[in-house]
Amino acid sequence: MTEPSPVPAVQNDPDRQKVSPFVAGLTCRCPRCGKGKLFSGFLSLKPRCENCGLDYAFIDSGDGPAVFIIMIAGFIVVSAALVVEVKYQPPFWVHAMLWLPLIAVTTLLPLRPMKALLIALQYHHRAAEGQLVKRNPQ
Ligand SMILES: [Zn+2]
Repeated sequence: MTEPSPVPAVQNDPDRQKVSPFVAGLTCRCPRCGKGKLFSGFLSLKPRCENCGLDYAFIDSGDGPAVFIIMIAGFIVVSAALVVEVKYQPPFWVHAMLWLPLIAVTTLLPLRPMKALLIALQYHHRAAEGQLVKRNPQ
């Protein structure tokens, strides 16, 4: 019986450098071939690539996409709200009419490409959970 490799098979993939992670991520495509769809729903992933068969079980983007979107959208919306309030001092219903749609647009639209981008970068840079490696005793 052979010992399991401490490095998952996906990390030894020779096709890793063929597709730009930014192109694959921003088009929500497979990080290896750049052609197969990554998502089966809004944010749920397919089990594997329909084009090249890459198993998506290695994917673990966690809360990363949401954190980036919260930071970017928060900066845009809060900055815009502060500028409008200081410059025009509109009634509160104007703030609600302006910022609620802006919040929806700046959070929901980029969330899917951001998740795909982080997945493609994870694949490209072989990011994985740390593992203990056995060393030869001396
Ligand atoms: Zn693929």
